[in-house]
Amino acid sequence: MKKITISLVILMFVSGTINAQSKFKSRQDSIAYEASLLEVWSPVPKPVMPGKFISEPPSDAIILFNGKDLNAFHGRNGKKIGWILNDDGSLTDVKGAGDIVTNESFGDCQLHVEFKTPSEVKGAGQSRGNSGVFLMELYEIQILDSYENPTYVNGQAAAVYKQHIPLVNASRPPGNWQAYDIIFTAPKFKEDGNLLSPARVTVLHNGVLVQNNVTLTGPTDWVIKPVYKKHAEKLPLFFQDHGDDGNPISLRNIWIRPL
Ligand code: MG
Repeated sequence: MKKITISLVILMFVSGTINAQSKFKSRQDSIAYEASLLEVWSPVPKPVMPGKFISEPPSDAIILFNGKDLNAFHGRNGKKIGWILNDDGSLTDVKGAGDIVTNESFGDCQLHVEFKTPSEVKGAGQSRGNSGVFLMELYEIQILDSYENPTYVNGQAAAVYKQHIPLVNASRPPGNWQAYDIIFTAPKFKEDGNLLSPARVTVLHNGVLVQNNVTLTGPTDWVIKPVYKKHAEKLPLFFQDHGDDGNPISLRNIWIRPL
């Protein structure tokens, strides 16, 4: 009985092989067929054409810097703006010149800014092309040359400073223009000063999602642990002069859409 069963299995195997061979002209055709069984052809992913690097402002944007003047900004504490307006429509920080602060206040917003860290690399870590976008003057999205420049990761480019590490490092090499597109939700406070809802932020770095609607635990700071304190619904934003010895950063094409 056992012999019969084994013979039957062998017979089935041989006949199967013959059948399989008869279906295909060659062993290669047979392999190709097997490979095709693993292919998935639908649904077809939606094609997305990457944008050109320069993102033109949409019609409803408030232009903060269009390369011509700095009328939308003032210096901190009445200080005159010391940043240099370049012929190519960009703006370069000068060590010790101070932050540039918007005249207008903003809360929830979409912000676009392009920045360039110096092509001549000086310094390391946090002193290499350090600046920052300070939303509401309190919440920093770090600007830094993070191309092959190790530092603490919650302080590298596109970090929510000391709160959120970027999902990936989308930094271009030094001397190249880069972009942040930031969607910011301001924190809301109750009458009594307690927090109603925290600030949230989404950041795209050179078009790549690096902060996905993350929650801020309070204002960002170098030393002080974040704690919310009631503040106005809208506040100016500023770009940081970090005051390092290395060459400073440049900015261009800055626009904002209040939400
Ligand atoms: Mg900074």
